[in-house]
Parts: sequence; structure tokens; C-alpha cells
Amino acid sequence: MRKPFVAGNWKMHGSKTSIESLVKGLNEQASQVQNVDMAVCPPAVYIDFVKANLTADNIVVGAQNIAEEPVQGAFTGETSVEMIKDLGCDYVILGHSERRAIYGETDAQIAQKTKVALAAGVTPILCVGETLEERESGVMEKVISTQLDAVIKVVGINAFEQIVIAYEPVWAIGTGKTASPAQAQEVHAFIRDKLARLNRAVAEEVIIQYGGSVKPDNAAELFAQADIDGGLIGGASLNAEDFLAICKAA
Ligand code: PEP
Repeated sequence: MRKPFVAGNWKMHGSKTSIESLVKGLNEQASQVQNVDMAVCPPAVYIDFVKANLTADNIVVGAQNIAEEPVQGAFTGETSVEMIKDLGCDYVILGHSERRAIYGETDAQIAQKTKVALAAGVTPILCVGETLEERESGVMEKVISTQLDAVIKVVGINAFEQIVIAYEPVWAIGTGKTASPAQAQEVHAFIRDKLARLNRAVAEEVIIQYGGSVKPDNAAELFAQADIDGGLIGGASLNAEDFLAICKAA
């Protein structure tokens, strides 16, 4: 039995004031959510602040990115995995489509970051997903396979016991367009089948989140699908009530 996992990706949003009130909302209401693993991923500079203010013991904290280099050194502007671990992060989002599209992160770089996170004992939330153009031109499965293969090649299939996958169709992120539950389920099943061909036990256990305009009113139907094990939530995770309503639906 896979335990649902919902994570909030706060992206580059917030200030001390807004984050204090968001965390207060989470503290007040998080106990209403049971049997769901929950995480929030604030901007790196606020991780410590969130850790200091978060009293809800059923929500853990993650980061949104790490450097490819495993150790500290002359890498101006970067944050190492050891640093986010030092701050108490359990998870790190890797390969988000915004990192791929805006910052040009390649499959090879994402695979390297996955390796570095695993070596440090921080669980990667590995994002994969196709653009609308890729979906419409019929190469969706090929794109997702390539993204996964790059990581499998570097860390091996057994490492997926310690990896969370987030399927995030790029066309559904922050656009208000959600994949229908059937569309999402089809891709989740494709991902699980692909992994099962390499290791059935790992494929059965791996958590595959859906991400892309998940809101309180569409979450339950998405999470009811057989291969959808929770979600990676952007916009709606900036509101404590909405985020927890989504978590409850998982
Ligand atoms: C995301 O950025 O991971 C995401 C799913 O965003 P949104 O929920 O806003 O579409």
C-alpha cells in the first residue's frame, strides 16, 4: 500500500510576513489531515524561518533545488545538498519544468543532482512531463522515457525506492488547465509500467505525484486514480486552507 504524499512548491513567492501567516495557518489546521505525508518547499532563504515556525509535526520541509556539486566550494550563488540537509530538509524538488525551461537544466544535470541528493539521504522529488507541443505531436511517452532513463542510467532502478516522481504536464503548470483524471492516470500507469519492466517491486512502491493546477475542487478525482499517489502543488500551496484541503483529498 502506497501512502499518499502531497508537497507544496512555493516557488519564488513570499516574504517573512506572508510566510509567517501561511505557516500559522498550517500549524492551526494540519492535524485535520491524517494518513497523508505532507511537505512544503519554501524558497531556500526561508527554509530556516519555516523550520523555526512550523509546529505541525505532520509536515516536513523540502528545498526547490540544489547544486550539482556534492561538496561546498567556489560556486557563487549555489546551495549544496549538505546545506539544505543541515537546515533539516527531507526532500528536494529536482527537474521542475521551470528549471528545465528557464535555466536550461539538462537531463544529465538533473540525474547528477538526483545522485547527489540520494548520497546525502535527501529524497528527490523528480519532476517529469511533456509540453503541449510534445503531447500533440505524439512524442509524450518518448519525452518522459528519456527524462526517466537519464536518471536511471546514473542512479540505477533500485534507487527509485528512495525517489518520488512527480508527473507534471508542462501545459498544466500554473495555467489553470488540469490534465483530466483519465489523462493523468494514463501517464502515471505508463511511468509505473516502464519502471516495472526493470524492477516490479520498486515500481509497485514508488510514489508518483501529479502536478499541474491541482485545486481543492479537482484534487479528489485526480487522487482517486489507481496510479496517482498524491500531488505536487504550486499556486494552491500558498494558501494554507487550500493546501490542506488538497492534502485531505489524497
Ligand atoms: C508546480 O509548479 O509544480 C505546479 C504544479 O504548479 P501549479 O499547481 O500552480 O500548476
